[in-house]
Amino acid sequence: MMKPLSWNKLCSGCGTCVIFCPKGIEMVLDPRSNYTPILKNECSFCDVCNTVCPTSDIIGGVTSKRNYNELIGRYVNSYIGYSKRRDIRWRASSGGLVTALLMFMLESNIIDGVLAVRMEGLRPVPFIAGSSKELLMAMGSKYLPVPLNAKLRNLLDIEGRFAVVGLPCHIRGVKKAMSVSRKLQEHILLSVGLFCSRTVSSIGIRTLLHKLRMREDVVEEISFRGRGWPGKLYVRLRNGDEVFFPYFSYWRPLFSTHFFTPTSCMFCSDLTNEEADISAGDPWLPEILGTDRLGTSIAVSRTEIGDEILREAWRAGYIELKEIGIEKVVESQWRPLFFKKVTLPARQILTKRVRECASPVSPLQLITALIQLANKGFSETSVGQYVIERLHFKILEAYAFVLSRVEKVAWVMYQRRRQIESSYNQ
Ligand SMILES: Cc1cc2nc3c(=O)[nH]c(=O)nc-3n(C[C@H](O)[C@H](O)[C@H](O)COP(=O)(O)OP(=O)(O)OC[C@H]3O[C@@H](n4cnc5c(N)ncnc54)[C@H](O)[C@@H]3O)c2cc1C
Ligand code: SF4
Ligand code: SF4
Ligand code: SF4
Repeated sequence: MMKPLSWNKLCSGCGTCVIFCPKGIEMVLDPRSNYTPILKNECSFCDVCNTVCPTSDIIGGVTSKRNYNELIGRYVNSYIGYSKRRDIRWRASSGGLVTALLMFMLESNIIDGVLAVRMEGLRPVPFIAGSSKELLMAMGSKYLPVPLNAKLRNLLDIEGRFAVVGLPCHIRGVKKAMSVSRKLQEHILLSVGLFCSRTVSSIGIRTLLHKLRMREDVVEEISFRGRGWPGKLYVRLRNGDEVFFPYFSYWRPLFSTHFFTPTSCMFCSDLTNEEADISAGDPWLPEILGTDRLGTSIAVSRTEIGDEILREAWRAGYIELKEIGIEKVVESQWRPLFFKKVTLPARQILTKRVRECASPVSPLQLITALIQLANKGFSETSVGQYVIERLHFKILEAYAFVLSRVEKVAWVMYQRRRQIESSYNQ
């Protein structure tokens, strides 16, 4: 039987269904979790929403099959790099590679615009950036749900060639939308995908502000990263006061333990944006963490066009690039990969989404998955929010540290098991 999207329990709020539903869909924010599509008229069960929904299945869509890594997906090359403009590198989330690359494409007339997202107060707003100045307004990671793809509808109505930058669920939705719309196929030249371990619900952001003794209604501007690397939370209040708080000091204690994680992110298996032409993330590597204060990005090219455009931007002097092995990408992302690839089967079993898994799930995988689910569930209760809001950052940090050590042990054991299995298979 066809299922209209209102039944979709794993909806990530990406907004793709908005473009095609003949009955009209509005994206409405549930502050506890995410954006939800709400039907404005009675469903006709045409099934278009399921065809384009990124959660319905995984599609191919990648043109190069030269290299494959089971945790990262298909790739052509992997790099570390950064914007050659120091101001961009300083203000962006990691190395400003994404902004500089898109700027190169705009200024060289390869594209006419970019589907991106900027902040308006506490609200992320998708928009089409048509100039470098507008791209600068989109710089920086918004660790919030964004119904980006609802804006794809604009690309149906205007002529030109565009790039899209988004999270893995956005890019998967874009690829699916392109598979049913010739116009989108013609209009979208390139997809740039961010790595994504999860977003944070609006309640999570409100809890963070309360812990820093601020109310939402006094916030005029917020950015979660930037001003060096790993960067700082920056909040400007209506009275002109400015607050800075180091990224690690809030992200690790409050969000690395899966407090305030939307349900869709708890069951999402794509960390590195496996469908994008180019994927970008942070190089969480000791050699870079120990030395870099300006910012560096990781980039994985997955298609020939993605790799060519990266190299052209390099030749044109917009970005600096250095090739690295794909195992360095895995090393830099061990914790989110552990969450998305290693403990996902355990979470699926614990929540009865599946009865059995392809490979055996170890007791440590089950324990860590149980803690992740419990933390998410606890943060959704009013008691949980009361407690988390009042616990000192240092206590939450200690809890997050213990959890990260347990996860590290489980990750090392998982890697060893993989090595033994692959040597046995050879
Ligand atoms: C929710 C989220 C989770 C992430 N998780 C990880 C992770 O686990 N590991 C990791 O290494 N990196 C992660 N990243 C990516 C990382 O934060 C940087 O975005 C990435 O390193 C690129 O940095 P940059 O300096 O090159 O990008 P910038 O030059 O700062 O450009 C960022 C671009 O991303 C777009 N953007 C920002 N936020 C969103 C959003 N929510 N939805 C759609 N588009 C957006 C903006 O439009 C902008 O064009 C995450 C990012 C987000 C938004
Ligand atoms: S099945 Fe068709 S009418 Fe119903 S919500 Fe989906 S797209 Fe809209
Ligand atoms: S297309 Fe996106 S917004 Fe629509 S149901 Fe699927 S995940 Fe949710
Ligand atoms: S974790 Fe998955 S579902 Fe959640 S925002 Fe990221 S890509 Fe989308």
